[in-house]
Amino acid sequence: MRRSFHVMAILAVIAAGLSNAARAQQKAAAPVKKIAVRAGHLIDGKNDKVIDNALILIEGDTITSVSSGGQPPAGIEVLDLSQYTVLPGFMDTHTHVVLNGDITAEDYDVQLLKQSIPYRAILGARNARIALEHGFTTIRDLETEGAMYADVDVKTAIANGEVPGPRMQVATRAMTPTGMYPLLGYSWELKVPTGVQYVDGVDGARKAVREQVMYGADWIKYYSDRKYHFEADNVLHSMVNFTDEEAKAIVDESHRLGKRVAAHAIGSDGIAAALRAGVDTIEHGDGLTDALLDEMAKKGVYWVPTITVGAYVAPGRGGNWTRMVDLERVAFQKALKKNVKIVFGTDAGGFDWKELNQAKEFEYYVQYGMTPMQAIRSATSMAGELLGWKDKVGTIEAGKWADMVAVSGDPLKDISELSRVKFVMKAGTVYKNELH
Ligand SMILES: [Zn+2]
Repeated sequence: MRRSFHVMAILAVIAAGLSNAARAQQKAAAPVKKIAVRAGHLIDGKNDKVIDNALILIEGDTITSVSSGGQPPAGIEVLDLSQYTVLPGFMDTHTHVVLNGDITAEDYDVQLLKQSIPYRAILGARNARIALEHGFTTIRDLETEGAMYADVDVKTAIANGEVPGPRMQVATRAMTPTGMYPLLGYSWELKVPTGVQYVDGVDGARKAVREQVMYGADWIKYYSDRKYHFEADNVLHSMVNFTDEEAKAIVDESHRLGKRVAAHAIGSDGIAAALRAGVDTIEHGDGLTDALLDEMAKKGVYWVPTITVGAYVAPGRGGNWTRMVDLERVAFQKALKKNVKIVFGTDAGGFDWKELNQAKEFEYYVQYGMTPMQAIRSATSMAGELLGWKDKVGTIEAGKWADMVAVSGDPLKDISELSRVKFVMKAGTVYKNELH
Protein backbone atom coordinates (compact mmCIF):
# COMPACT_ATOMS: atom_id res chain seq x y z
CA MET A 1 0.00 0.00 0.00
CA ARG A 2 2.61 2.34 1.14
CA ARG A 3 4.80 1.58 -1.84
CA SER A 4 2.03 2.00 -4.37
CA PHE A 5 1.08 5.29 -2.70
CA HIS A 6 4.67 6.42 -3.19
CA VAL A 7 4.57 5.46 -6.87
CA MET A 8 1.26 7.27 -7.25
CA ALA A 9 2.77 10.36 -5.72
CA ILE A 10 5.72 10.26 -8.12
CA LEU A 11 3.36 9.80 -11.05
CA ALA A 12 1.29 12.73 -9.86
CA VAL A 13 4.40 14.92 -9.72
CA ILE A 14 5.41 13.83 -13.22
CA ALA A 15 1.89 14.47 -14.50
CA ALA A 16 1.91 17.92 -12.94
CA GLY A 17 5.27 18.58 -14.56
CA LEU A 18 3.95 17.48 -17.92
CA SER A 19 0.90 19.65 -17.66
CA ASN A 20 3.10 22.64 -16.76
CA ALA A 21 5.20 21.94 -19.81
CA ALA A 22 2.06 21.60 -21.91
CA ARG A 23 0.76 24.88 -20.51
CA ALA A 24 4.04 26.63 -21.30
CA GLN A 25 3.93 25.25 -24.82
CA GLN A 26 0.34 26.36 -25.18
CA LYS A 27 1.28 29.84 -23.96
CA ALA A 28 4.13 30.10 -26.44
CA ALA A 29 1.83 29.06 -29.24
CA ALA A 30 -1.04 31.29 -28.06
CA PRO A 31 -2.25 33.40 -30.96
CA VAL A 32 -1.39 37.10 -30.86
CA LYS A 33 -4.39 39.10 -29.68
CA LYS A 34 -6.30 40.68 -32.53
CA ILE A 35 -8.55 43.72 -32.12
CA ALA A 36 -10.40 45.91 -34.58
CA VAL A 37 -11.14 49.58 -34.02
CA ARG A 38 -14.03 51.20 -35.86
CA ALA A 39 -13.32 54.94 -36.02
CA GLY A 40 -16.07 57.40 -36.95
CA HIS A 41 -13.39 59.75 -38.26
CA LEU A 42 -9.69 59.07 -38.52
CA ILE A 43 -6.94 61.68 -38.59
CA ASP A 44 -4.04 59.39 -39.42
CA GLY A 45 -1.20 61.89 -38.93
CA LYS A 46 -0.18 61.57 -42.58
CA ASN A 47 -3.04 62.52 -44.91
CA ASP A 48 -4.69 65.92 -44.91
CA LYS A 49 -7.98 64.20 -45.57
CA VAL A 50 -9.97 62.79 -42.68
CA ILE A 51 -10.97 59.16 -43.30
CA ASP A 52 -14.58 58.45 -42.36
CA ASN A 53 -15.78 55.13 -41.03
CA ALA A 54 -12.24 53.76 -40.80
CA LEU A 55 -11.43 50.22 -39.80
CA ILE A 56 -8.12 49.71 -38.02
CA LEU A 57 -6.90 46.15 -37.45
CA ILE A 58 -4.39 45.48 -34.70
CA GLU A 59 -2.36 42.37 -33.88
CA GLY A 60 -0.55 42.45 -30.56
CA ASP A 61 1.13 45.86 -30.32
CA THR A 62 1.07 46.64 -34.04
CA ILE A 63 -1.40 48.03 -36.57
CA THR A 64 -1.81 45.60 -39.47
CA SER A 65 -4.22 47.48 -41.70
CA VAL A 66 -6.24 50.67 -42.04
CA SER A 67 -9.10 50.97 -44.46
CA SER A 68 -12.11 53.11 -45.14
CA GLY A 69 -15.22 51.05 -44.47
CA GLY A 70 -14.87 47.28 -44.68
CA GLN A 71 -15.82 44.60 -42.21
CA PRO A 72 -13.66 43.24 -39.40
CA PRO A 73 -12.76 39.54 -39.63
CA ALA A 74 -15.37 37.34 -37.91
CA GLY A 75 -14.92 36.61 -34.23
CA ILE A 76 -12.48 39.35 -33.22
CA GLU A 77 -13.13 42.00 -30.61
CA VAL A 78 -14.29 45.31 -32.11
CA LEU A 79 -13.85 48.58 -30.24
CA ASP A 80 -16.66 50.77 -31.41
CA LEU A 81 -15.36 54.34 -31.72
CA SER A 82 -17.80 55.11 -34.51
CA GLN A 83 -19.05 58.24 -32.71
CA TYR A 84 -15.53 59.59 -32.20
CA THR A 85 -12.50 61.01 -33.96
CA VAL A 86 -9.40 58.83 -33.66
CA LEU A 87 -5.86 60.26 -33.89
CA PRO A 88 -2.34 58.90 -33.40
CA GLY A 89 -1.14 58.93 -29.78
CA PHE A 90 0.34 62.35 -28.95
CA MET A 91 4.02 62.90 -28.28
CA ASP A 92 5.52 65.58 -26.08
CA THR A 93 9.20 66.02 -26.89
CA HIS A 94 10.05 68.18 -23.88
CA THR A 95 8.95 67.01 -20.44
CA HIS A 96 10.35 66.58 -16.92
CA VAL A 97 8.52 63.76 -15.16
CA VAL A 98 10.47 64.16 -11.94
CA LEU A 99 9.83 67.90 -11.66
CA ASN A 100 6.63 69.38 -10.24
CA GLY A 101 6.58 73.06 -11.12
CA ASP A 102 9.29 75.66 -10.66
CA ILE A 103 7.77 79.07 -11.12
CA THR A 104 10.05 80.45 -8.43
CA ALA A 105 13.55 79.50 -7.34
CA GLU A 106 12.02 78.45 -4.00
CA ASP A 107 9.73 75.90 -5.71
CA TYR A 108 12.80 74.42 -7.32
CA ASP A 109 15.10 74.42 -4.30
CA VAL A 110 12.51 72.73 -2.08
CA GLN A 111 12.28 69.80 -4.49
CA LEU A 112 16.03 69.31 -4.58
CA LEU A 113 16.63 69.91 -0.87
CA LYS A 114 13.60 68.38 0.83
CA GLN A 115 12.55 65.53 -1.43
CA SER A 116 14.59 62.36 -1.80
CA ILE A 117 15.27 61.02 -5.26
CA PRO A 118 13.16 57.88 -4.56
CA TYR A 119 10.23 60.15 -3.61
CA ARG A 120 10.70 62.18 -6.76
CA ALA A 121 10.80 58.98 -8.84
CA ILE A 122 7.46 57.90 -7.33
CA LEU A 123 5.97 61.25 -8.34
CA GLY A 124 7.61 60.71 -11.73
CA ALA A 125 5.63 57.50 -12.18
CA ARG A 126 2.45 59.37 -11.20
CA ASN A 127 3.22 62.13 -13.70
CA ALA A 128 3.92 59.62 -16.46
CA ARG A 129 0.49 58.16 -15.84
CA ILE A 130 -1.10 61.61 -16.05
CA ALA A 131 0.64 62.17 -19.39
CA LEU A 132 -0.64 58.84 -20.73
CA GLU A 133 -4.19 59.57 -19.59
CA HIS A 134 -4.01 62.91 -21.42
CA GLY A 135 -3.23 60.99 -24.61
CA PHE A 136 0.56 61.19 -24.66
CA THR A 137 1.78 57.74 -25.59
CA THR A 138 5.42 58.76 -26.10
CA ILE A 139 7.54 61.45 -24.44
CA ARG A 140 11.09 62.70 -24.58
CA ASP A 141 11.98 63.54 -21.00
CA LEU A 142 14.64 66.23 -21.04
CA GLU A 143 16.50 65.89 -17.76
CA THR A 144 15.84 65.10 -14.14
CA GLU A 145 16.70 68.43 -12.44
CA GLY A 146 18.90 66.99 -9.74
CA ALA A 147 17.28 63.54 -9.56
CA MET A 148 20.28 61.89 -11.24
CA TYR A 149 19.18 58.92 -13.37
CA ALA A 150 15.67 58.51 -11.94
CA ASP A 151 14.20 59.07 -15.42
CA VAL A 152 15.88 55.87 -16.58
CA ASP A 153 14.14 54.02 -13.73
CA VAL A 154 10.72 55.49 -14.57
CA LYS A 155 11.26 54.58 -18.22
CA THR A 156 12.29 51.02 -17.31
CA ALA A 157 9.33 50.47 -14.95
CA ILE A 158 6.96 51.59 -17.73
CA ALA A 159 8.69 49.48 -20.37
CA ASN A 160 8.45 46.44 -18.06
CA GLY A 161 4.73 47.02 -17.56
CA GLU A 162 5.10 47.69 -13.80
CA VAL A 163 3.42 51.10 -14.00
CA PRO A 164 1.34 52.75 -16.76
CA GLY A 165 2.96 55.54 -18.73
CA PRO A 166 4.15 56.69 -22.13
CA ARG A 167 7.17 55.06 -23.73
CA MET A 168 10.11 57.31 -23.04
CA GLN A 169 13.37 58.60 -24.39
CA VAL A 170 15.37 60.21 -21.60
CA ALA A 171 18.20 62.73 -21.25
CA THR A 172 19.22 61.98 -17.63
CA ARG A 173 21.16 64.81 -15.94
CA ALA A 174 21.86 67.59 -18.52
CA MET A 175 25.03 69.68 -18.38
CA THR A 176 26.38 73.16 -17.68
CA PRO A 177 29.83 74.39 -16.71
CA THR A 178 30.47 74.71 -12.98
CA GLY A 179 28.34 77.32 -11.24
CA MET A 180 25.97 78.04 -14.11
CA TYR A 181 22.84 76.29 -12.88
CA PRO A 182 21.05 76.03 -9.51
CA LEU A 183 21.25 75.26 -6.70
CA LEU A 184 23.15 78.48 -6.19
CA GLY A 185 23.43 81.06 -3.45
CA TYR A 186 23.99 78.70 -0.51
CA SER A 187 26.91 78.99 1.86
CA TRP A 188 30.10 77.57 0.37
CA GLU A 189 30.32 75.45 3.49
CA LEU A 190 27.26 73.45 2.41
CA LYS A 191 27.37 70.68 -0.11
CA VAL A 192 24.06 71.13 -1.95
CA PRO A 193 22.75 69.13 -4.93
CA THR A 194 22.91 70.63 -8.42
CA GLY A 195 20.12 70.56 -10.97
CA VAL A 196 22.54 69.41 -13.68
CA GLN A 197 25.92 67.73 -13.97
CA TYR A 198 28.70 70.31 -13.89
CA VAL A 199 31.02 69.70 -16.81
CA ASP A 200 34.22 71.57 -17.65
CA GLY A 201 36.73 71.38 -20.46
CA VAL A 202 36.79 69.34 -23.63
CA ASP A 203 37.90 66.13 -21.92
CA GLY A 204 35.36 66.66 -19.14
CA ALA A 205 32.63 67.09 -21.75
CA ARG A 206 33.49 63.86 -23.52
CA LYS A 207 33.71 61.98 -20.24
CA ALA A 208 30.35 63.31 -19.05
CA VAL A 209 28.67 62.23 -22.28
CA ARG A 210 30.15 58.74 -21.92
CA GLU A 211 29.02 58.54 -18.30
CA GLN A 212 25.43 59.63 -19.03
CA VAL A 213 25.20 57.23 -21.96
CA MET A 214 26.57 54.43 -19.75
CA TYR A 215 23.72 55.00 -17.28
CA GLY A 216 21.00 55.11 -19.90
CA ALA A 217 20.79 58.52 -21.59
CA ASP A 218 19.02 58.36 -24.97
CA TRP A 219 19.67 62.07 -25.52
CA ILE A 220 22.30 64.46 -24.23
CA LYS A 221 20.97 67.81 -23.09
CA TYR A 222 23.01 70.83 -22.24
CA TYR A 223 22.22 74.41 -21.25
CA SER A 224 23.58 76.70 -23.93
CA ASP A 225 22.70 79.93 -22.13
CA ARG A 226 21.31 81.88 -19.16
CA LYS A 227 20.73 85.51 -18.08
CA TYR A 228 18.28 86.51 -20.80
CA HIS A 229 18.03 90.23 -21.48
CA PHE A 230 16.99 92.71 -24.14
CA GLU A 231 19.50 95.08 -25.69
CA ALA A 232 19.06 98.22 -27.79
CA ASP A 233 18.57 96.14 -30.93
CA ASN A 234 15.36 94.70 -29.35
CA VAL A 235 16.81 91.21 -29.71
CA LEU A 236 16.76 88.88 -26.73
CA HIS A 237 20.38 88.27 -25.79
CA SER A 238 21.92 85.86 -23.29
CA MET A 239 25.12 84.75 -21.64
CA VAL A 240 26.58 81.66 -23.30
CA ASN A 241 27.58 78.89 -20.88
CA PHE A 242 30.11 76.66 -22.61
CA THR A 243 33.06 77.68 -24.77
CA ASP A 244 32.59 76.65 -28.39
CA GLU A 245 35.23 73.95 -27.93
CA GLU A 246 33.35 72.44 -24.98
CA ALA A 247 29.95 72.54 -26.71
CA LYS A 248 31.39 71.00 -29.86
CA ALA A 249 32.99 68.24 -27.78
CA ILE A 250 29.61 67.44 -26.19
CA VAL A 251 27.92 67.24 -29.58
CA ASP A 252 30.73 65.36 -31.28
CA GLU A 253 31.02 62.74 -28.53
CA SER A 254 27.24 62.26 -28.41
CA HIS A 255 27.01 61.79 -32.16
CA ARG A 256 30.00 59.45 -32.10
CA LEU A 257 28.08 57.28 -29.60
CA GLY A 258 24.93 57.38 -31.71
CA LYS A 259 23.05 59.82 -29.45
CA ARG A 260 21.60 63.19 -30.33
CA VAL A 261 21.77 66.50 -28.55
CA ALA A 262 19.11 68.89 -27.27
CA ALA A 263 20.20 72.40 -26.31
CA HIS A 264 18.33 74.65 -23.95
CA ALA A 265 18.76 77.96 -25.78
CA ILE A 266 16.57 80.98 -25.10
CA GLY A 267 18.57 84.09 -26.07
CA SER A 268 19.91 84.72 -29.57
CA ASP A 269 23.52 84.29 -28.42
CA GLY A 270 22.76 80.91 -26.85
CA ILE A 271 20.86 79.74 -29.93
CA ALA A 272 23.69 80.83 -32.23
CA ALA A 273 26.25 79.01 -30.07
CA ALA A 274 24.16 75.82 -30.05
CA LEU A 275 23.80 75.92 -33.83
CA ARG A 276 27.57 76.43 -34.20
CA ALA A 277 28.09 73.36 -32.03
CA GLY A 278 25.81 71.28 -34.28
CA VAL A 279 22.94 70.37 -31.93
CA ASP A 280 19.90 68.47 -33.20
CA THR A 281 17.12 70.31 -31.35
CA ILE A 282 16.72 73.85 -29.98
CA GLU A 283 14.59 73.98 -26.82
CA HIS A 284 12.52 77.12 -26.08
CA GLY A 285 14.19 79.44 -28.64
CA ASP A 286 12.37 82.64 -27.64
CA GLY A 287 15.13 84.86 -29.06
CA LEU A 288 15.18 83.31 -32.54
CA THR A 289 15.99 85.96 -35.18
CA ASP A 290 15.43 85.76 -38.94
CA ALA A 291 19.03 84.75 -39.52
CA LEU A 292 18.91 82.02 -36.87
CA LEU A 293 15.60 80.67 -38.22
CA ASP A 294 17.11 80.56 -41.72
CA GLU A 295 20.07 78.62 -40.36
CA MET A 296 17.77 76.14 -38.58
CA ALA A 297 15.70 75.61 -41.74
CA LYS A 298 18.86 75.08 -43.77
CA LYS A 299 20.41 72.62 -41.31
CA GLY A 300 17.13 70.81 -40.54
CA VAL A 301 17.44 71.52 -36.81
CA TYR A 302 14.17 71.02 -34.93
CA TRP A 303 12.60 73.74 -32.80
CA VAL A 304 10.69 72.70 -29.68
CA PRO A 305 9.01 75.94 -28.53
CA THR A 306 7.47 74.96 -25.14
CA ILE A 307 5.02 77.86 -25.23
CA THR A 308 2.84 76.49 -22.44
CA VAL A 309 5.53 76.79 -19.79
CA GLY A 310 6.51 80.31 -20.87
CA ALA A 311 2.94 81.56 -20.70
CA TYR A 312 2.39 79.77 -17.40
CA VAL A 313 5.45 80.95 -15.48
CA ALA A 314 5.61 84.51 -16.90
CA PRO A 315 3.17 86.15 -14.42
CA GLY A 316 4.93 84.54 -11.44
CA ARG A 317 8.45 85.24 -12.62
CA GLY A 318 7.88 88.79 -13.87
CA GLY A 319 10.88 90.60 -15.37
CA ASN A 320 11.46 89.86 -19.05
CA TRP A 321 9.36 86.69 -19.10
CA THR A 322 6.15 88.33 -20.38
CA ARG A 323 8.02 90.10 -23.16
CA MET A 324 9.69 86.79 -24.03
CA VAL A 325 6.27 85.16 -24.57
CA ASP A 326 5.33 87.95 -27.02
CA LEU A 327 8.67 87.63 -28.75
CA GLU A 328 8.27 83.89 -29.17
CA ARG A 329 4.90 84.37 -30.87
CA VAL A 330 6.58 86.51 -33.55
CA ALA A 331 9.40 83.98 -33.97
CA PHE A 332 6.82 81.17 -34.30
CA GLN A 333 5.03 82.96 -37.12
CA LYS A 334 8.31 83.57 -38.95
CA ALA A 335 9.36 79.96 -38.43
CA LEU A 336 6.16 78.75 -40.07
CA LYS A 337 6.86 80.87 -43.16
CA LYS A 338 10.47 79.66 -43.30
CA ASN A 339 9.49 75.98 -42.95
CA VAL A 340 11.46 75.42 -39.76
CA LYS A 341 10.60 72.00 -38.31
CA ILE A 342 8.50 72.87 -35.27
CA VAL A 343 7.88 69.92 -32.95
CA PHE A 344 5.45 69.79 -30.05
CA GLY A 345 7.04 70.19 -26.62
CA THR A 346 5.63 71.73 -23.48
CA ASP A 347 8.16 71.61 -20.63
CA ALA A 348 5.56 69.81 -18.49
CA GLY A 349 7.03 69.60 -15.02
CA GLY A 350 8.12 73.23 -15.42
CA PHE A 351 4.41 73.64 -14.71
CA ASP A 352 2.63 71.37 -12.26
CA TRP A 353 1.47 68.15 -13.92
CA LYS A 354 -1.71 68.15 -11.82
CA GLU A 355 -2.71 71.72 -12.68
CA LEU A 356 -2.39 71.91 -16.43
CA ASN A 357 -2.99 69.43 -19.24
CA GLN A 358 0.03 69.59 -21.52
CA ALA A 359 -2.32 69.34 -24.56
CA LYS A 360 -2.81 73.10 -23.98
CA GLU A 361 0.24 73.53 -26.22
CA PHE A 362 -1.91 72.64 -29.27
CA GLU A 363 -4.05 75.71 -28.63
CA TYR A 364 -1.05 78.04 -28.67
CA TYR A 365 0.22 76.60 -31.96
CA VAL A 366 -3.14 77.27 -33.60
CA GLN A 367 -3.40 80.74 -32.04
CA TYR A 368 0.10 81.45 -33.36
CA GLY A 369 -0.73 80.48 -36.93
CA MET A 370 -0.63 76.72 -37.47
CA THR A 371 -3.64 75.00 -38.98
CA PRO A 372 -5.15 72.46 -36.57
CA MET A 373 -3.77 69.70 -38.83
CA GLN A 374 -0.25 71.19 -38.63
CA ALA A 375 -0.53 71.37 -34.86
CA ILE A 376 -1.61 67.72 -34.72
CA ARG A 377 1.31 66.69 -36.93
CA SER A 378 3.77 68.57 -34.73
CA ALA A 379 2.84 66.13 -31.93
CA THR A 380 2.53 63.02 -34.14
CA SER A 381 4.42 62.51 -37.39
CA MET A 382 6.88 65.40 -36.84
CA ALA A 383 7.58 64.25 -33.30
CA GLY A 384 8.13 60.69 -34.56
CA GLU A 385 10.75 62.06 -36.93
CA LEU A 386 12.52 64.01 -34.17
CA LEU A 387 12.60 60.92 -31.98
CA GLY A 388 14.09 58.80 -34.75
CA TRP A 389 11.11 56.43 -34.52
CA LYS A 390 9.16 57.51 -37.58
CA ASP A 391 8.81 53.92 -38.78
CA LYS A 392 7.06 53.02 -35.48
CA VAL A 393 5.14 56.06 -34.18
CA GLY A 394 3.35 59.20 -35.32
CA THR A 395 0.80 57.89 -37.80
CA ILE A 396 -1.98 55.35 -37.86
CA GLU A 397 -0.93 52.96 -40.61
CA ALA A 398 0.11 49.35 -41.05
CA GLY A 399 3.38 48.45 -39.35
CA LYS A 400 3.23 51.18 -36.67
CA TRP A 401 2.74 50.57 -32.97
CA ALA A 402 -0.97 50.70 -32.11
CA ASP A 403 -0.89 54.07 -30.28
CA MET A 404 -4.11 56.03 -30.62
CA VAL A 405 -6.47 58.39 -28.86
CA ALA A 406 -10.09 59.36 -29.40
CA VAL A 407 -12.04 62.56 -28.80
CA SER A 408 -15.75 63.19 -29.11
CA GLY A 409 -15.68 66.55 -30.93
CA ASP A 410 -13.92 67.73 -34.07
CA PRO A 411 -10.38 68.91 -33.25
CA LEU A 412 -10.08 70.50 -36.70
CA LYS A 413 -12.87 72.90 -35.67
CA ASP A 414 -11.90 73.27 -32.02
CA ILE A 415 -8.32 72.32 -31.20
CA SER A 416 -9.01 72.47 -27.46
CA GLU A 417 -10.89 69.19 -27.99
CA LEU A 418 -7.45 67.54 -27.73
CA SER A 419 -7.43 68.45 -24.03
CA ARG A 420 -10.47 66.18 -23.58
CA VAL A 421 -9.14 62.80 -24.68
CA LYS A 422 -11.63 60.04 -23.86
CA PHE A 423 -9.76 56.95 -25.03
CA VAL A 424 -6.08 56.02 -25.01
CA MET A 425 -4.42 52.94 -26.47
CA LYS A 426 -0.67 52.36 -26.30
CA ALA A 427 0.90 49.44 -28.17
CA GLY A 428 -2.47 47.71 -28.52
CA THR A 429 -3.39 47.99 -24.81
CA VAL A 430 -6.26 50.25 -23.74
CA TYR A 431 -5.28 52.51 -20.82
CA LYS A 432 -8.29 54.80 -20.76
CA ASN A 433 -11.80 54.32 -22.05
CA GLU A 434 -14.51 56.81 -21.08
CA LEU A 435 -16.59 56.23 -24.15
CA HIS A 436 -19.58 54.61 -22.48
ZN1 LIG B 1 12.70 71.92 -19.71
